[in-house]
Amino acid sequence: MRITDKTNPTEYRAIEDRYDEMTYRRCGHSGILLPAISLGLWHNFGYLDNLEIGRNILRAAFDAGITHFDLANNYGPPYGSAEENFGLLLKRDFAKYRDELIISSKAGYDMWSGPYGNYGSKKYLVASCDQSLKRMGLEYVDIFYHHRPDPDTPLEETMSALDLLVRQGKALYVGISNYPADLAEKAACILKDLGTPCLIHQAKYSMFERWVESDLLDILDDNGIGCIAFSPLAQGMLTNKYIDGIPDDSRAAKEMTYLEREHVEAKLVQIKQLHEIAESRGQKLSQMALSWLLKDDRVTSVLIGASSTNQLKENLEALDKIVFEEDEIKKIDEVLGV
Ligand code: NDP
Repeated sequence: MRITDKTNPTEYRAIEDRYDEMTYRRCGHSGILLPAISLGLWHNFGYLDNLEIGRNILRAAFDAGITHFDLANNYGPPYGSAEENFGLLLKRDFAKYRDELIISSKAGYDMWSGPYGNYGSKKYLVASCDQSLKRMGLEYVDIFYHHRPDPDTPLEETMSALDLLVRQGKALYVGISNYPADLAEKAACILKDLGTPCLIHQAKYSMFERWVESDLLDILDDNGIGCIAFSPLAQGMLTNKYIDGIPDDSRAAKEMTYLEREHVEAKLVQIKQLHEIAESRGQKLSQMALSWLLKDDRVTSVLIGASSTNQLKENLEALDKIVFEEDEIKKIDEVLGV
């Protein structure tokens, strides 16, 4: 199914002072600066979603200085539809701003049937990147990621596929995602030898998911690789959304998502306690959750999702207060049982 363009034809002009409020951080030892808050299109941009809402979110994001939009071959649902919708909105609203944007895509999870549509072979990565470019109507992506480690394909093959994509001009930079620390270090070493340094690691990191703290963040820092934290709001759990129950229009209530009601219910006590700490700091929980990640300058950017422009605007205010008192950090760790 190919989407038809039913979006409002009104011309979009980005606001003049869009770069005034956003903070930009250098991504590892590269030339690239990323906005401290980036926007991901995993949810809310597929065929099942309202494209006008998605369009307003993208416009509001760019107007607020968010220059980085993150996609993957399988975002939707169905797979590929987020890239198609994004391509349509890019053509409509952002074509003239292409050089102001960092657009990323990925391959690594199952995408098409048969032995060549999953994991980390060169065959899969090159074909998938070609498909993503076509869906988005782009000549190149700014960052192309291997989405998750492949236990069977030699790491050298996967990394040389990323290197090839750069040499072919289909990607400017490459990254890895969901790689544990030891494998990330090996991948970075291979990429360095190939002459295509690893720009960035995209890792799940939030108050509820702190695995990166044990060694990954230091390894990335030592190797001059940026870190972009995905699902920094734990898919919406680290907001005020679930405090009084599970709203019908929330991710936890919807089908075809990866957030279970039981998961939310199991975290509710902690969510309420964190909410109180946030209030005492004069923040919403969403804002505190993002500020808390950004207090560490090894985190280049936090990669949020949003289902409305109001959520996006609320989250952007996290940048107003990223400093924490020692006492606040301690209280948060106590709630989290760290
Ligand atoms: P978040 O943790 O930021 O969760 C976003 C969701 O939380 C929103 O869609 C919304 O859900 C809810 N929300 C956001 N802000 C608020 C607010 N202020 N108040 C109330 N609810 C709010 O991130 P995601 O899990 O969406 O992931 C972000 C991006 O990270 C993805 O789009 C993707 O680009 C990337 N990612 C990468 C992965 C990888 O393997 N590399 C895996 C997963 C994500 P609701 O619908 O309930 O309103």
